[in-house]
Amino acid sequence: MNYNLNSLIPFILPSEYDKVAEQFLEEYCPDALKYPMAIPIEKIAADLGLNVQYVCITEEADIYGATIFTDGMMEIYNPEYGCYENKMFKRKTVLIDPEAVKKTNVGCKHNTLAHECVHWYKHRFYYRMQKFTMPRIAKFCKCSVNQLPDVTDDISIMESQANGIAPRILMPRITFIEAASQYDIVYGRDNWQAIAGLAALFDVSKSSVMIRLEECNLL
Ligand SMILES: [Zn+2]
Repeated sequence: MNYNLNSLIPFILPSEYDKVAEQFLEEYCPDALKYPMAIPIEKIAADLGLNVQYVCITEEADIYGATIFTDGMMEIYNPEYGCYENKMFKRKTVLIDPEAVKKTNVGCKHNTLAHECVHWYKHRFYYRMQKFTMPRIAKFCKCSVNQLPDVTDDISIMESQANGIAPRILMPRITFIEAASQYDIVYGRDNWQAIAGLAALFDVSKSSVMIRLEECNLL
């Protein structure tokens, strides 16, 4: 895997997302490459050393997740007091806002957590590079429901990588195709039973399954 030597963002083409997801699973959950199964993403996050907290992040619920890469302050919304406050976080903290997750196109907490795991797995070097500017402020990424207009190219590249790789971790290509072959999936039909069955098997949302079926040319 090559990195941009100035920014330390990895070069990953969309055609390589399946390969990166497989490398991740080989390391953290090799059984998932042998049998169709629900990926224990909470356990994997813990194995990565991540401390996952389910909290409100913004008042508008427009940020569904955040990964914190260095110790420091980050502003989050406190719904109890109706105001934003600066809180101290340790590196390796992941915040997930369950209300905002419902607004994402896949609407799935597991997908969000897998997305944040990808940020830690592939993007921590980028954020570590930025550690020495404003050391009191934590270095973090915030993942928004709709892409924000003012994001930099770097952030936009890393968001695309995490968006592309996360569902491939939860539904690895080989075992997903194997599981889908048990159903009679036909283009143009609603395929409700297959989609519901696969969503239950992999413990993801039905919209996630539909997108993955299309990616694997099964729909
Ligand atoms: Zn993200």
